[in-house]
Formats: sequence, C-alpha cells, structure tokens
Amino acid sequence: MTSTNGQWRGLIEEYRELLDIPAGTPAITLGEGGTPLVRSEWLSGVTGGEVWIKVEGANPTGSFKDRGMTAAISVAVHEGAKAVVCASTGNTSASMAAYAAKAGISPIVLVPDGKISASKMAQALVHGGQVIRVRGNFDDCLRLSRGLAENYPVALVNSVNPVRLEGQKTASFEIVDRLGDAPDFHLLPVGNAGNISAYWLGYVQYKDAGRATKTPVMRAFQAAGAAPLVLGHPVENPETRATAIRIGNPASWKLAEAARDASGGRFKALSDEQILSAQAQLARNDGIFVEPASAAGVAGLLDDVAAGDEIAKAYAGKVTVITVTGHGLKDTITALEFFGEIPDIVVDADIDAAAAAAGLI
Ligand SMILES: *Cc1c(COP(=O)(O)O)cnc(C)c1O
Repeated sequence: MTSTNGQWRGLIEEYRELLDIPAGTPAITLGEGGTPLVRSEWLSGVTGGEVWIKVEGANPTGSFKDRGMTAAISVAVHEGAKAVVCASTGNTSASMAAYAAKAGISPIVLVPDGKISASKMAQALVHGGQVIRVRGNFDDCLRLSRGLAENYPVALVNSVNPVRLEGQKTASFEIVDRLGDAPDFHLLPVGNAGNISAYWLGYVQYKDAGRATKTPVMRAFQAAGAAPLVLGHPVENPETRATAIRIGNPASWKLAEAARDASGGRFKALSDEQILSAQAQLARNDGIFVEPASAAGVAGLLDDVAAGDEIAKAYAGKVTVITVTGHGLKDTITALEFFGEIPDIVVDADIDAAAAAAGLI
C-alpha cells in the first residue's frame, strides 16, 4: 500500500492479521480507530485508582460504529454486495451510509419513526442513505432488516453480522497497546450488546496471543427503561432519553452474558437522570462531550462508587477504562433540554457591557 508517513491507516490495515476476515479483502476505510485514550484526573480522584476514557466519538462519523462498519462494508463489497441494509437507533445508519458512499454502494436504513436524533438522521441522509421510517421500535427494525437481507440482494450489516464484531474488537487492542496491559476493569454502555461482546473477544484474543497478562472485569450499564439484560427478560416498549441504547431485546444477548460471566462482571441499570448528569459532569470536568447513551459507563462508575460497598472499593489502586461510545454533537437537543433555557443575556457590542455580563467587573 502507499506510504502513510507514520499516520494511522485505519483499523483493518493496522490489525489485519488479527481480524477474522477473508484474506485479501480490500479495506474500505475512512481512517477509523486509533481514538484517544484520555486519562481522567476527575474519576481517578473519585476512585483512588487510574481511570482512562476511550473516546469513540473521535471516529469519522462520531461513534464506535465505524469500527464494525469498515469491516462489514469491506467484506460485503469483497463478496459482491451492491446494497447494504441496517436497523438503527441512529449511529449505525450514519456510519453505514458513510462507508457505503465511500464504497459506491446503496445504503438502506430502517429507523424507528420519531426516535432518532436529527443529527444522526442528517448524517444518513447527507451520505445518500435511503431512510425508511418504521412504525415500531429498534427491535422491529432489526426484524425487518433481517427479512430484507434474507429475501433480497442486500447485505445485512447490523452487529448480528459477526464481521462487525471483528472490527469493533480492535478497540481492546488499542487499549492494551497503549496501556501496556489490559485494564483491571472495563465499563461501557450496552444496547444491542454487540460492543461488549466485541471488546471481550478482543481482550481474550490479546491474552491468548500473549500481548496481555489478563482480561478485565466487564461492567456494563443499561438505562432503567431499557434494561433487558439486567431484568433477564426482553422489554417490550423500551424507553430512555439515551436513544442509542433504547433496545428491548439485544441481538447479542448470549455473547454479552458470556462476557459478563467469564470476566466476573455484571450488568446494572441507571436512571436517565444519572446518565444525563454524568454526561454533564464529564463535559465539565474532563472536557469530553458525549451523547447521552455514551455517558452510561461514567454514570455507572459514579453509581458504583456512591454505593460505597466492596464493588466501590475494588476500583482503588486499579486501572479502569470507560468507553464513551459517541460524540456529544450527535444529540444537542437532549443536552440543551437538560441544561434548560439558553441564557437570555444579550449585550451591546461594547467591551464594558461584555465585561459586566461576564462578571469581570
Ligand atoms: C450503538 C451504540 C451503543 C450501544 O452499543 P451496542 O453494541 O448496541 O451494545 C451505545 N452508545 C452509542 C453512542 C451507540 O451508538
């Protein structure tokens, strides 16, 4: 391939020999992966340990979905696909539409009507996605996508497609490569449960290959109104402001439970208030703006620590990584609602007036 002068080449070229994709698959890439792992002084202080934030909003379309999508679209195109379909709470469709555009194939997107953010809808449309709004929820959309892929010449790129997980597991590789070993704990939000399954795959693969001495405890968080994994049964009408995890019947349920059990981890539910509060605190304390669902791992850590029990104490002296899954600009409506009115202060174009309004004089 052409020289990249040391720049990140996208995750397929960076990790090709570790990915279970057909040999010689040409990479369709937007330079995804290689995202920042930022040390949180705030959360390190709160836990008495070392806490790192994996900032997945830094991917090309603003969420970790690009990791799975570069793999899924590359393989689909290699196998001759001319069209791809997905069900989406928003980010999968934004990502799929971008990678399909790059590949020159048609993206068909099924979204729950009225339930995806305007920014994500804009991304899908601007990239040329054929957006079909469904009277139903995400789980209905996924059922339809599977049906379309079974009966028509379109490739399904939801995370039920195992190639998606191959791409997504590279986040674990990056974390170990950066920290020098696997963390003790890994916290993240869970919706359809592809991501937790992919992280676990990646950590286990690295340990088996001798690149890490251990695997982390996986602690995953759902919104209370959409917490099937916590409850142990599907939720018929999932509800939460954290729309990216508004899923009642996760496709990767079994894999997520296996990751929890093998790692000694657990699932926990959080209120929307806890999630939105964590979103604001992360933005103010660490300078990282994430969409609501993405803050569930941070909210989970704060909830664990507030409990003050054995689980809270376990973080002290240990290394914890929290994945924040998508960028804050994905859903500014919810963010602004949480903060209430935009301040109604308007001044004349005058230094003294601006100084007075800013409280400087
Ligand atoms: C997709 C998504 C999730 C949930 O990931 P799953 O793999 O479905 O569990 C969480 N946050 C954001 C921002 C997402 O886009």
